[in-house]
Amino acid sequence: MTALQPVRGTHDLLPDEAARHRLVEEIAFDIARRYGFGEIMTPIFEFTEVFSRNLGETTDVVSKEMYTFQDRSGESLTLRPEGTAGVARAFISEGMSQNLPLKLFYRGPMFRYERPQKGRQRQFHQLGVELLGVESPQADVEVIALAAHILQELGLKHDIQLELNSLGDAASRAAYRDALVAFLMARKDRLSKDSLDRLDRNPLRVLDSKDEGDREVVADAPLMADYLNEASRTFFTQVCDGLSAVGIAVVHNPHLVRGLDYYCHTAFEFTTTALGAQGTVLAGGRYDGLIGQMGGPATPGIGWAAGIERLSMLADVAPEASRPLVVIPMGDQTAALALTQRLRQDGFRVDLGFSGNMKKRMARANKLQARAAVILGEEEWGRQAVVVRDLDTGSQEEVPLVALEDRLARFR
Ligand code: ATP
Ligand code: MG
Repeated sequence: MTALQPVRGTHDLLPDEAARHRLVEEIAFDIARRYGFGEIMTPIFEFTEVFSRNLGETTDVVSKEMYTFQDRSGESLTLRPEGTAGVARAFISEGMSQNLPLKLFYRGPMFRYERPQKGRQRQFHQLGVELLGVESPQADVEVIALAAHILQELGLKHDIQLELNSLGDAASRAAYRDALVAFLMARKDRLSKDSLDRLDRNPLRVLDSKDEGDREVVADAPLMADYLNEASRTFFTQVCDGLSAVGIAVVHNPHLVRGLDYYCHTAFEFTTTALGAQGTVLAGGRYDGLIGQMGGPATPGIGWAAGIERLSMLADVAPEASRPLVVIPMGDQTAALALTQRLRQDGFRVDLGFSGNMKKRMARANKLQARAAVILGEEEWGRQAVVVRDLDTGSQEEVPLVALEDRLARFR
């Protein structure tokens, strides 16, 4: 153990990076609010079954990535690997089915035991939305439009593509599943061990495999699109038409399936080539069966989640660099302290050094890129005044204390 190192796959976000991270979240939430979403904060851990029973036992997340532990009373708990299951659990336990449709936004840390690499951590952060209670494809269009709007506002300039697929309704998926299993069974010897395991329990997941050999086999597999029944095809067409009506370009990717089990109909990902293998920035889909399967009232849902680290790496945004004022005492530090406090109370961002002569303090002001210095000279102080120096122009003037806030307003 190297107790003074961060745990592998975790990161400290220092102030500059944390500011960026917050900004990305704020921009996303600000736009989500325009679409009527309110924030929900669910616990960071849940009973293990919330995830193990609902995400699908054969998914990577459940089979190898969960941080599961027993608490002191012997309960099996899991640090949340994703947001949807917790939101669905809250929907049921809080009895929210009276308030449909419901639009929820969340953000926060997620935990997955993965091999760390660029854009892939063990503690990472997601922001996401869930729209509950709407069966119509209009909901799909709205949440995807919201996603596109957020990415646009974040200035994601690296070519971002929206890939879309339909997983159909339950009947279509059953028909497709049979065809896929028959196809894969005939090529069994070429599949990876993981995919062989999934063949019985969840063959659709084989389509999502990252194994080279699997991908070659899958390239010729039957396509879901050919097994969609009339209702599923209509649904998909309506989603595509809606997206086109709001000006969002899509690429139909017939191989796209989502990594978790509860999806139906619409599955989508916004992808980029700018992050190497970690190309998915935002992913989601429709999960009409989830809440019913968890034991709640049958309630359709659709949502997505985006990795904040990945967004932050790509986003063309910068936290506002607000420049401080500095207060420089010449004699009595107490007077400077009181004046600094007064200015901070009045809303100014003010730095007061803890020690040093005038020269040292001016050097520090430079380093902070301070906008102006408020200098407490003994003579001026005797006249109830201070000197205000504009640090960009070097010009300075005496300002009576009573007029100080007014005079400083333009340096805010
Ligand atoms: P991937 O194929 O990259 O493993 P996933 O299918 O596991 O992604 P989701 O569960 O759909 O991902 O999560 C949605 C988003 O969360 C991803 O598109 C990505 O931006 C982000 N994400 C997922 N896992 C991680 C991780 N370990 N580190 C950082 N971001 C992640
Ligand atoms: Mg993953």
